[in-house]
Amino acid sequence: MEDCIFCKILDGSIPSDKVYEDDEVYAFRDIHPKAPTHVLVIPRQHVPTLSDARDEKLLGMLMNRVRMIADDVLKLEAGWRVVINVRAGGGQEVYHLHVHILGGKKLPF
Ligand code: 5GP
Ligand code: ZN
Repeated sequence: MEDCIFCKILDGSIPSDKVYEDDEVYAFRDIHPKAPTHVLVIPRQHVPTLSDARDEKLLGMLMNRVRMIADDVLKLEAGWRVVINVRAGGGQEVYHLHVHILGGKKLPF
């Protein structure tokens, strides 16, 4: 998608601080971290929002990668939080499905 920031991160035309990648997902540090560890996990497939994601295989794959990245790559042993903002009312700013992983301190509710 031409105007999508995260597709540009995927094709390397916007630099990013990678923490993990494979054939299906890419994970990188948020440019404005809201916790000591703040990583975004995105599918390589451009899906605008969670509301558009009807494919159980895609969603299952994505959440399994999130678990693996948080526990095995980032090693957030004290625990972590997942956030998915959905459309304007949910605070979504970038319309390429992404999962926030937040950790590294006790998070307020
Ligand atoms: P949203 O509000 O859409 O759920 O989250 C988008 C996130 O992407 C925000 O936390 C924002 O800081 C992050 N972000 C926006 N542009 C860039 C960028 O160019 N690089 C990185 N690493 N993060 C970005
Ligand atoms: Zn995209």
